[in-house]
Amino acid sequence: GLQGQVAIVTGSTSGIGHALADALAGQGVNIVLNGLGEMNAIERTRSELAEKHGVEVLYHGADMTKPVEIADMVKAAKAEFGELDILVNNAGVQHVAPVEEFPDDKWDLIIAINLSSAFHASKAAIPIMREQGRGRIVNIASAHGLVASPYKSAYVAAKHGILGLTKTIALETAQQGITCNAICPGFVKTPLVEAQIADQAKARGISEEAVMKDVILAAQPTKQFVTFEQLAGQLLYLVSDLGASANGASFAIDGGWTAQ
Ligand code: NAD
Repeated sequence: GLQGQVAIVTGSTSGIGHALADALAGQGVNIVLNGLGEMNAIERTRSELAEKHGVEVLYHGADMTKPVEIADMVKAAKAEFGELDILVNNAGVQHVAPVEEFPDDKWDLIIAINLSSAFHASKAAIPIMREQGRGRIVNIASAHGLVASPYKSAYVAAKHGILGLTKTIALETAQQGITCNAICPGFVKTPLVEAQIADQAKARGISEEAVMKDVILAAQPTKQFVTFEQLAGQLLYLVSDLGASANGASFAIDGGWTAQ
């Protein structure tokens, strides 16, 4: 079982990352919590996770745009817990604008957080995992790793990129008991998506209700948001012993979006 293992989940102070950290902690996994936020709220999240599941939860505030801080987070996990079994690269941000108006600094930020941070975290984690002869890296990509939508150039580029990184790491580590896979969620109702509803309405010049109905769930044939539990189910499979032969793959959990 996963009892006593150690996981880093980046961007776990909110949304999907928090739900995935909660699911891992529910299996007895000690957690390195990461993400932005107000210190009191983060401490509440940290202590709630620890108390609810009887595991240890360490918060590390590494900024996913800073390679040195990312490496330090991985080092801190090993120093605190003596091992690192699972790395979930989840932190992500979005910005919606047409290419010709897309701010350069937003492009750089999205590539740094949604793509490069997974490279830096994996680079630091793989030597530890090789030494253990065991490890699981799971990248939270997106349906936008497989298909595009207008006005999301940086996000779509980063998410397509992370699938390439996933495959490459899988090949490099395949004989050391390490796997690297990606989960490609469709739309999940998190703060990230709620913020987009307003941005999309502006970019398209339509109402927020129309964005929900005709833009967001228009892409998702089930007409349902993907739930945290459904993503957690996929993650728990991938990190388990049963997931050992899933390697370099991407798993679309998207209500049929990318089947179209
Ligand atoms: P969210 O905004 O709820 O959470 C994002 C997390 O990343 C937060 O904890 C935030 O603090 C953290 N973060 C942001 N910038 C950071 C930085 N510089 N350093 C460290 N942490 C930082 O978003 P979410 O919807 O839960 O998204 C999580 C992941 O899932 C993202 O990679 C996103 O692209 C992906 N995803 C989301 C959806 C969706 O519909 N919500 C769909 C597909 C993929």
